[in-house]
Amino acid sequence: MNTKLLSVLAVVPAALLLHGCYQVPVTGRHSLSLVDDKEVTKMSIAAFDEMKAHNRISNDKDLNAELQRVGERLQRAVPIWDMPDADWEFVLFDNPQINAFAMAGGKVGVFTGLFKIVQNDDQLASVMAHEIGHVTAKHIHEQLSQEMALNTGGLIGGVALMGSGAGLLTSTAVMEAYGIGSEASGFAFDRKKEKEADHIGLIYMARAGYDPHEAIKVLEKLEEEEGNGQPESAFGSTHPSNPERIAALEAEMPEALRAQEDAKIKPVPVLVK
Ligand SMILES: [Zn+2]
Repeated sequence: MNTKLLSVLAVVPAALLLHGCYQVPVTGRHSLSLVDDKEVTKMSIAAFDEMKAHNRISNDKDLNAELQRVGERLQRAVPIWDMPDADWEFVLFDNPQINAFAMAGGKVGVFTGLFKIVQNDDQLASVMAHEIGHVTAKHIHEQLSQEMALNTGGLIGGVALMGSGAGLLTSTAVMEAYGIGSEASGFAFDRKKEKEADHIGLIYMARAGYDPHEAIKVLEKLEEEEGNGQPESAFGSTHPSNPERIAALEAEMPEALRAQEDAKIKPVPVLVK
């Protein structure tokens, strides 16, 4: 939560705060959302459909099979209350960029370029689980809430909007929050959100029975690919450097291994709908 939001929190009526408050899975961080979950999901599905309509879908049999195989296993490891509105869909875009994304509603896109660095199911799972982590942590909701608060002259305006059906939540705002412009590109979250998605993703992939150590190998490969070896970049940019992310993942590894063991004994509960 940024300081601008914090500074106006004091004047928000408690009842409204309760309404917009949520707890991030895995990390337990408390956050505030001024946007309606259903609205965000609806817009996200529309944006995903848009992307499918305007970008080439890969017909590579092996890669598609791998994506579906990993996706099915991962979706069972995400507790239903982390993404209650999920109607899972995994799509392989024919795009040379090293990239993947996930959207509210359980929509996951992977670019064929990702397979330049991803060499097995566990590694693919780590990337997809990270992206799903952004969604279950509601990072998009946070981003939209902050924008709304800024656009409406403060949080009070935003809260009022929430009550009136979040009328300002436009598809353009949703697309921008995801980082989708005219063409498929990457999402850019701040370093805290990236590390939070890493943590959540690590636990999800471990619960799905994948080897969490492979998440570190992906970041090492990414580091190699980007060719940025300077340790000072960890603090010089808004995005955490790969070494910084690797160190955090190493610290979280015991928790991930426990989650992996627990999932063997007691599968992740699912609600029968
Ligand atoms: Zn990310």
